Formats: sequence, C-alpha cells, structure tokens
Amino acid sequence: MSTPNNHIPTILIIGAGPGGLLLYHGIQKHLNKNVKKFNVKIFERDIGPQDRWQGYNIGLYPHGIRSLISCLPESLVTRLSEVMPDPIHEKEYHGVISCDHKGTELSRSTSLYFKSLFELAMMPTYPMMSTYSVIISYRNKLRDLMLEGVDIQWGKKCIGYDECDNEVWAIFQDGTRVRGDILIGCDGINSPIRKQKLPHLQLFDYGITQVLIDVALNKKLMDRIIALNGNFVVHKTFGQDGDTTFSMMRIIPIENDITENTPDDQIHYRISLCYTYYTYWDKNINVDDNNPQSVIDHIKNLIRKRREPCELTDILLELVSLAPVSRPKKHEKTFYRTYNPLKRRPVQDINPMSVEAWESTRVTLLGDAIHAMNPFLGYGTNNALQDAESLVKCLSNYEKHGYRSCIREYENEMRVRSSKDVLESRESCLTQNLPKSEYGYLFNDIYLSGKL
Ligand SMILES: Cc1cc2nc3c(=O)[nH]c(=O)nc-3n(C[C@H](O)[C@H](O)[C@H](O)COP(=O)(O)OP(=O)(O)OC[C@H]3O[C@@H](n4cnc5c(N)ncnc54)[C@H](O)[C@@H]3O)c2cc1C
Repeated sequence: MSTPNNHIPTILIIGAGPGGLLLYHGIQKHLNKNVKKFNVKIFERDIGPQDRWQGYNIGLYPHGIRSLISCLPESLVTRLSEVMPDPIHEKEYHGVISCDHKGTELSRSTSLYFKSLFELAMMPTYPMMSTYSVIISYRNKLRDLMLEGVDIQWGKKCIGYDECDNEVWAIFQDGTRVRGDILIGCDGINSPIRKQKLPHLQLFDYGITQVLIDVALNKKLMDRIIALNGNFVVHKTFGQDGDTTFSMMRIIPIENDITENTPDDQIHYRISLCYTYYTYWDKNINVDDNNPQSVIDHIKNLIRKRREPCELTDILLELVSLAPVSRPKKHEKTFYRTYNPLKRRPVQDINPMSVEAWESTRVTLLGDAIHAMNPFLGYGTNNALQDAESLVKCLSNYEKHGYRSCIREYENEMRVRSSKDVLESRESCLTQNLPKSEYGYLFNDIYLSGKL
C-alpha cells in the first residue's frame, strides 16, 4: 500500500522516557536515513529536561543494550560508556547478592565477566537468576544523552486522543490538538492513552508499598557496605517480617579530582535504594507524602521496628537519613541538580495478555504504558527499549503494508514478550522477595486470606 499524494505520515510520540526517546532515535536512524519517510513529533508533560529527578541508577541487560545500540545514532552509541562506565575489574562485581536482615548471605549470582557494555551486548538474552550479568548505568545521564538531537515539545500533557479512519489527533491539557497518522503512547504507568484505548486493562496491585531513595553517601559508609556485603553492584536484603531493600550502585566516586590525600568523608558515591513493605503496615499511621521528612521518619521507624539492631540496620538507617528533603539552594554544593521528593508508591503492574488481543488501530502503546512491571528483576526499561526497536522494524513495512499491519505485527510480538517478563517479575516478587512463613510464603498466605 503506497501513501497517496506523496503524503509523509506523521508519528506522534507521547512521553520522552527511555521508550519514547529510543523510538524517536530509531525512526530517524533507520526509517528517515536516506529519504524522510515519517515526520516525528514528540511531546512531554515535563516543562523542561531538568524538571523532574530521573533517578541515579538503572540495571540494563544484554537485550536492552542491544536495542540501544541498534536505535541510537552512531554518535551517541560511541558515548554510551560515559553513562554506563566499563566495570572496574576486581573493584566492582556486576551481579546480585541477597542477604537476610543481619547481612548474612543467602545467595549470589554468578556473573559472566565482561569488559564493556559492547561485550555485555554479545551475551545471552535472558538472564537466569543464578548466572546473569547486568550493567548499572547512570539513569539521569542516560536520559540526558538520549535527549540529544531530539526536538521535544515540553510542557505538553496529553489528556487523550480523537481517532478516525484517516487520522488521529492528540489532545493536550493546554487546549491544543495535534494531527498525526499514528499515535504512540509512551506515557508511563498512568498513561491516559491506555486508559482511553483499553479501559478494561487494569493495574494489578500487590498490596505492597515502595519508596525510592536516591542518595550520595561518603566513602566511609560505602566501605561499611562493602565490608558487609562485598563489592556487588546490586544488593537485596530481606527483613524477618517481610520488608525488603533493593539497591543499585556503582563503586565509582562522583568526584573526579580525587587524590590519595582526599579524606574518606569527601569522596562520595551514588546509591538508588528501594525500600518495600506491606501496605497494611501503614494502616492507622499518618504519613504526609507531601512532606519528605515525614516519609523519611516513617521509613526509619519501620526499619527500627521491623529489623533487629545490627550493622545492616544501622547502614539502612544512615542511607535513609541522607535523602534530601528540599530542592538544592542556589550555590549550594550538592550531588543532585534536580530533586526527587520522597513518596510512598504502590507496587503495581500491567499484564497486556490479561485481556483479549485488541484491534490494532492508529493508536498503540509502548513501555510502562502497556506493560509496567515491578522493579525487582529490573526488566521494565529493558522491555521499553526492546519495544522501540521492535516498532521501528515493523514500521519499515508501512509503505508496503499500511499502518494497521505494522502495528498489529508490533503488538503481537510486544504482548507476548513483555507479558512473560511481567509475570516472571510478579512471581519473583510474590514468592522469592518476601520471607517464608511456616506454611509457605508469608505474602501469599496473607494475600490469599484476604487480609490485604
Ligand atoms: C525503583 C525502580 C527501579 C527500577 N529499576 C529498573 C532497572 O534496574 N532496570 C529496568 O529495566 N527497569 C527498572 N525500572 C523500571 C523502569 O523505570 C521503567 O520500566 C521505565 O522507566 C519505563 O520507561 P517508559 O519510557 O516506558 O516510561 P517512563 O520512564 O515512565 O516515561 C514516561 C514519560 O512520559 C511522560 N508522560 C507521562 N504522562 C504523560 C502525558 N500525559 N503527556 C505527556 N507526557 C507524559 C513522563 O513525564 C515520562 O517522561 C525500575 C523502576 C523503579 C520504580
């Protein structure tokens, strides 16, 4: 099917997260290479690139990295190691260690050794928990890199769309509308596009709450962590009552002017720490999510109440205490430019296979918007990146087969692949991440007995 009157179709991308940005790059790299096949417009609700904290760290697997390499322009591929530095041999171990509440090792992954992200990209696609390799990348820097060369329309919050036979219109909160031929909702877990297109596709709520804490800690504290748990870049700990922590770090200092005389308290590292607990623990407890200090105090209270006093408990308390409670003041020396107010969030996911396959139209979804998954296996971004690569490949048949066929092909592949990871992450969270009771898994017992 050819496009009439030399009409160049317009693709509207809603959301400039990793999924939307990689899709933009992939279309430009592969489909607009020699001849411009598509106009691409990308819209983001944030008012600018530094509007919102993007997080310190994120784990990427071989398949996510392969999608990045496939879709980013060569000029950015060659700079990927700036945002995911090569593993430092013998100093950091790109694997996972799991410990009990006292820091006693329960299990560790055997990582395949790799020298750089390019070597990691050649490794098998799906990790097994016993043998897997992950590279921890600087999430905020990866986003900055992916923003390069992308003409984003900032401050455009999409609230829905109008679709008819030959076009689709994105509708924005500011009262404007933009016409396109295809609209792709890359707008995250609360996607208004998904809610309109698939109102029957519901979020699965785990009855678990998480708080994501990004902190800069000094070398003294980092040395205590390494002394307790080794030089793994991913740490998990399991409290005896069912709270868990999950942290990602690089053992690379923030400062690049360190000498052998720099005191330990002036050398800093970054950790992303996720604290997770049963939501019913918050019953009858007052916490103000608009006041980060209130959230910090609550988490510290939970840790003190639910965990035995020991070195690991002390370390967790110190990490939580380091969370910033306000935006950095002008001229203040900080390790963060933007600020992430601490909040409690429900752990939820979306399984795209939990509903019948839907009719493929001019509107489709990508990333967390269609298959948000819990963070415990670190599959979410990896899938969003794979979606972008997959959709670009399918769109290469647009001229020949038309939009419907391309989108159907993409949705068929994306639904099956991502659903598998949503369910594996769910299973892992419900059966492995929480402690066993006498009769089985504590969470499942409580969940099944309807007490949540
Ligand atoms: C604690 C934690 C740790 C994680 N760790 C990992 C990990 O190690 N590895 C991994 O692979 N994944 C991880 N994830 C998951 C990962 O964060 C997500 O899967 C990933 O960010 C999804 O990318 P996305 O582009 O689909 O959506 P998002 O990153 O959510 O981006 C959506 C974009 O759309 C914008 N937007 C939203 N609504 C609108 C609107 N109405 N109009 C316009 N723009 C809008 C948003 O501002 C945002 O920029 C983790 C998640 C959490 C919470």
